[in-house]
Amino acid sequence: MSDVITWTGVQSRRLKELGVDLETCPVNFSTPVERNKLFQQIEKKEVRSQRAKLSEFLARGKKSHLELLKEKISLTLHNQGFYRVTTPTIITKTALAKMTIDENHPLFHQVCWINEKQCLRPMLAPNLYSLMMDLGRLNHRPIRFFEMGPCFRNESDGARHNYEFTMLNLVEMGLAKEDRHARLEELASIVAAASGLTDFQFESEDSKVYGSTLDIVAGHEKIEVASGAMGPHPLDAAWGITDTWVGMGFGIERLLMVSRGDTTIGKWGKSLSYLNGIRLNSI
Ligand code: ATP
Ligand code: MG
Repeated sequence: MSDVITWTGVQSRRLKELGVDLETCPVNFSTPVERNKLFQQIEKKEVRSQRAKLSEFLARGKKSHLELLKEKISLTLHNQGFYRVTTPTIITKTALAKMTIDENHPLFHQVCWINEKQCLRPMLAPNLYSLMMDLGRLNHRPIRFFEMGPCFRNESDGARHNYEFTMLNLVEMGLAKEDRHARLEELASIVAAASGLTDFQFESEDSKVYGSTLDIVAGHEKIEVASGAMGPHPLDAAWGITDTWVGMGFGIERLLMVSRGDTTIGKWGKSLSYLNGIRLNSI
């Protein structure tokens, strides 16, 4: 029996890079010449189309998919009565320790330290906890706010993790205890709808940092796009929080990846190799 002639490793990598769905391409060829000819045709066509797309974006000064998604989510949350906060990207070791993230915690070793006492935040929660404590002194309830900004984690899996990514974290304080679960699902669904995400499920998980969490997983691969938590919570005392609350953290690039039907995140993160999902060495 003769060997099956299919794409070479280099060819299939290049086709994927160009955004070609290999499942819709022929996979078996009678000769290498036939295969190479088709490869060249597809590559030429894709390069032309990617170049045209990029020119269109640049010439018209269009917004990137990531920018549009951030704007849409922000507007949606403002319309739901959430105030947007912007807090420092550099946080202290003490603030992390208040989240129980110290030398003994696995996340501690993923933290990007800039000196002995400060790091680039791996999450928004420490800053948002601090705001919850201060805003909790106001009389009105509920108190609603969110942050959307960069977080950093030294990760080993590159397919669904970026070293630097955009986290959205929303918080609602002062709701009835019995309403927390339903409200968390409602808020999660609002953000999912704003992101064009239709195929998702809720999953409960035990987190080392947050106790019991409510995750959103998307698609048949069940890719996590968000994790939610609620208080009263074991961490509240360290921050002087006595209110009931719900909170949820989303990865914006993950939302973009999943809502666009991708299973890898690289092209949607901050990058010098991609512009709006288009590989720059393809043009
Ligand atoms: P995972 O298990 O997928 O690594 P996590 O549970 O460690 O995620 P959380 O701390 O729950 O992540 O952060 C909230 C959300 O932020 C995640 O659901 C995910 O969408 C996103 N996120 C976390 N780490 C990254 C990363 N390195 N790159 C991109 N998005 C991330
Ligand atoms: Mg999580």
